[in-house]
Amino acid sequence: MIVIRNARILGGEPRDILIANGLISEIGAGLGGDTVIEADGLIALPGLVDLHTHLREPGREDAETVETGTRAAAMGGFTAVHAMANTSPVADTAGVVEQVWRRGQEAGHCDVHPVGAVTSGLEGKHLAELGAMADSQARVRVFSDDGKCVSDAVLMRRALEYVKAFDGVVAQHAQEPRLTEGAQLNEGEVSGRLGLTGWPAVAEEAIIARDCLLAAHVGSRLHVCHVSTAGSVEIIRWAKSKGWNVTAEVTPHHLLLTDSCAEASPVGPYNPIYKVNPPLRTQEDVTALREALADGTIDCVATDHAPHPVEDKETEWAAAAMGMIGLETALSVVQEAMVETGLLDWAGVADRMSVRPARIGRLAGQGLPLEPGSPANITLYDPAVRTPVDPTAMVSRSRNTPYEGLTLPGRVVATLLRGRPTVLDGKLV
Ligand SMILES: [Zn+2]
Repeated sequence: MIVIRNARILGGEPRDILIANGLISEIGAGLGGDTVIEADGLIALPGLVDLHTHLREPGREDAETVETGTRAAAMGGFTAVHAMANTSPVADTAGVVEQVWRRGQEAGHCDVHPVGAVTSGLEGKHLAELGAMADSQARVRVFSDDGKCVSDAVLMRRALEYVKAFDGVVAQHAQEPRLTEGAQLNEGEVSGRLGLTGWPAVAEEAIIARDCLLAAHVGSRLHVCHVSTAGSVEIIRWAKSKGWNVTAEVTPHHLLLTDSCAEASPVGPYNPIYKVNPPLRTQEDVTALREALADGTIDCVATDHAPHPVEDKETEWAAAAMGMIGLETALSVVQEAMVETGLLDWAGVADRMSVRPARIGRLAGQGLPLEPGSPANITLYDPAVRTPVDPTAMVSRSRNTPYEGLTLPGRVVATLLRGRPTVLDGKLV
């Protein structure tokens, strides 16, 4: 039996949490156990759940593996991640999703729930084996061609209709392909000054509007990946006001950084560490995204952890890969953007980073309240420290964090997966 002593559950008064057989058995004062985890001053949150992680295995093990990516997840306080399908081979069959699922079980650092591709090979031509992936051992419920948009309206409609049979959801990477050919950076003043091809907000917003209408038309569930513009927020708010089954996520980087980073980075302009899909937008967009996450229009935070090896990022802007890592810094960035600003309290953080993503992914054993009977999926977090972000200290196989040089609040001290510590004293177990 493990006892966590004096943890502030969701930021409340200090309590002891007793854990037995992987479950929370009692919450109270003066509880005893064989193993004691001292949590003075630490906040206890339900284990974080990521709806959007690129683990890169199979195919790009030079960037990340299930083993290294789930270590990074545990270090970030996550007890479950959804592994995106744009691997090589693509996760578009029962065989591939079961392989990823099994690798997650073997690694054991957090639960790995494979996302299934919507279309075969992410080619946008034919639906993948959605039913076979749903029926597989991996029990896939989230389907996405992420990295690419399901731009064909007929295919998108069919996918939305198909996943209803098993209560699945289509997670759309909203990017109208013709409007973003060659696009490099948010279309606006900064892209104009830097001479980079603009990436207009309307390319995202047009797809989100279309998909909300399609989801309503067929009565299915739509999830919008990495919302990045104020206009997208307005469309999702409108869809929700109609009672449609639409959910949405925002990344930590879109809550904190703007396109001006591409111009005014510490090492000068055109630093591709800030190149990401969708692109960093403007301060007005950041403000709208924060407000939308606070009022629940945007349901959750998802990292879009996108590891890339050095040679794919440290090159000229136009040739660089798109994406940034984010698992190990997600909670700190959310504290900086949402808690320090008074927009969310710790109960709100738990809701947006654990409860709601678990519900969207239909994960039965995650995102549950910290109370007796729940699985002991627990993150212990110290919000009082502030430390400079050090890429060399990260456990992800890749180093492409956009926060190097920034000082961020907070540190994950411990992560427990069904009562078993995966991180203790800020280190992997
Ligand atoms: Zn994406």
